[in-house]
Amino acid sequence: MAADLIDGKAFAADVRGRVATQVARLQEVHGITPGLAVVLVGEDPASQVYVKNKGIQTKEAGMASFEHKLDAGVAEADLLALIADLNADPVVHGILVQLPLPSHLDESLVINAIDPAKDVDGFHISNVGLLATGQKAMVPCTPLGCLMMLRDRHGDLSGMEAVVVGRSNIVGKPMAQLLLRDSCTVTIAHSRTKDIEDVVRRADIVIAAVGRAQMVPGDWIKPGATVIDVGINRIPAPEKGEGKTRLVGDVDFDSAAAVAGAITPVPGGVGPMTIACLLANTLTACCRANGLAEPEGLTA
Ligand code: NDP
Repeated sequence: MAADLIDGKAFAADVRGRVATQVARLQEVHGITPGLAVVLVGEDPASQVYVKNKGIQTKEAGMASFEHKLDAGVAEADLLALIADLNADPVVHGILVQLPLPSHLDESLVINAIDPAKDVDGFHISNVGLLATGQKAMVPCTPLGCLMMLRDRHGDLSGMEAVVVGRSNIVGKPMAQLLLRDSCTVTIAHSRTKDIEDVVRRADIVIAAVGRAQMVPGDWIKPGATVIDVGINRIPAPEKGEGKTRLVGDVDFDSAAAVAGAITPVPGGVGPMTIACLLANTLTACCRANGLAEPEGLTA
């Protein structure tokens, strides 16, 4: 492997540590404790694990964690009433509604009911607009984590060619906006992109956010490029035993690592950064709500 490994686990631990230090300072100097409310609707096992981990890491950072578990059949009006209560609650600085929601609930209506200043996932339409117009926004956690790792690796990103593969609202589009804001020359590739390998080969920075196991092989990567693999895909792993599986990214790690300058692994790359950035966003929201300076190095 020629590429440097970007250790997202260690990076995320560092971000969480910096958040915890600033939370302790906020409490000591101002008597304020940042609070994160997480709303989980239904019993989806993966969502339950995410919510549990978020709660644990929120408390470890010294913040207050409020969990609201609602029945899968909750009426939309009741969910909206809970969000209105959380919007009005001064000890809650961040609100996250775990997605996906059951199909009888209108996801955009629910997300857009959150106070944009407390929208620590950065999915509210106001935050989307603020980010797109280069104004102060709450930035979606996964792209924010990718940006932090890129800035750490390169410092100034300006003038770099960046190719984002994937145009979803939660990863691809906000990632492209952030890279544009940092003055990269940005291309967004998607399922209709022609000659995608040639497009990706131009990139100094490749962000893969597709959801297709090992789709990007090493021969699409420009030598020395930085590769950030957002994908999380489960594939059969017969070498581990019958019926076993393992996680892989959207990039074929072995062949890409042979040519890239730096690469994130899956697991242990972007994944851990997402919750770390959720904590960073909660701290940022708390500082903004109290008219205090934003935490340095933890925002876009
Ligand atoms: P979506 O399914 O919402 O979007 C996938 C995007 O990939 C679409 O824009 C789609 O294009 C594009 N795409 C699909 N097939 C191809 C192809 N053959 N060539 C080029 N582009 C293609 O996924 P998400 O953005 O939500 O997630 C992407 C991946 O990132 C998933 O594996 C997900 O699990 C992972 N993820 C990881 C997170 C983390 O914390 N590490 C957080 C969020 C997501 P089109 O629009 O044309 O259909």
